[in-house]
Amino acid sequence: HVLVVGSFNVDHVWTVASLPRPGETLSGHYHTGPGGKGFNQATAAVRAGASTTFVCALGEDLGGQLARALAAADGLDLREHSSEAPTGTAGIYVDHDGRNSIVIGPGANADLPLAHVQAQRDGIHAAHVLLAQLESPLASIEAAFAIAREAGVRTMLNPAPADAQVPASLLALSDVITPNETEFCAQLARHVGERVDASTVASRDDDTLHAWCRRLLPHGTVVVTLGAAGCFVSHADGALHRDARTHYRVAAAKVQPHDTTGAGDAFNGALAASWALRPDAAFADHLHYANRYAALSTERAGAAVSMPRDEEVRARFA
Ligand code: ADP
Repeated sequence: HVLVVGSFNVDHVWTVASLPRPGETLSGHYHTGPGGKGFNQATAAVRAGASTTFVCALGEDLGGQLARALAAADGLDLREHSSEAPTGTAGIYVDHDGRNSIVIGPGANADLPLAHVQAQRDGIHAAHVLLAQLESPLASIEAAFAIAREAGVRTMLNPAPADAQVPASLLALSDVITPNETEFCAQLARHVGERVDASTVASRDDDTLHAWCRRLLPHGTVVVTLGAAGCFVSHADGALHRDARTHYRVAAAKVQPHDTTGAGDAFNGALAASWALRPDAAFADHLHYANRYAALSTERAGAAVSMPRDEEVRARFA
């Protein structure tokens, strides 16, 4: 069982010839769909085959209704706080070169109360893996992680977005963190005092990456996702993860990417699901599955809607 604490957004996406400048009015192709890192990751976890609970805050509006309908369709166990704020939204412009400008209206996501998370104690204790990101109030996430720790439930923190603060106290409660290259460098700068250019991470040697990871999360596992280069993992204790190696890379699956939006979310949801379903398997096997799952998601457009089912992943890479 996976329990995700996180955000739900309604994404409004305009594809435009060029990103709008101040005072400019443009028209472009429009589409809308569900998003938010929390919901994307919960959708990935449930479609990867794990029974999944999603703890979030929704407004009493069309966005909230959309979230409920989608959760029901996927068999996602929704534990929502009903907020007076509007459901979270994201306004996204994408130009023909794939560049984007994004404005997020956190709305209800910023209003996930501590008490609502504390009320999920039994659900958290029943989970094998608790997964959260940083689009929800830190106090609520930290409370969930503290409750998980009481019962020995594994905690996974996706420290995204990169500009979000991660207090040392939350890192201390995390068994695994899963930054992408940008998020990894942001946390290295903040917690280790090491300034690294994100574009150089994938080309660093493994021992250097491992040393940085050990300083960032001395007690736990760091998984750095590297886009088309797959991922790098650094363990504090190889034995804990049923693997003799403390650090290694897992190559990405070969695909023809069409839309990499939500690739990181696909990876996180699939990793949590695989780990929850097969706690005795080597950690490398879970990373291998998460890479394949995320790669397949990039062949499809959209964020939550692009998450494949476990059968599709197995058939695609059979
Ligand atoms: P984010 O979406 O957060 O920026 P990444 O770009 O690191 O995260 O992608 C997350 C994961 O998605 C990667 O670790 C990899 O497994 C998969 N992935 C992303 N881009 C590709 C690609 N071009 N080919 C194959 N897999 C990819």
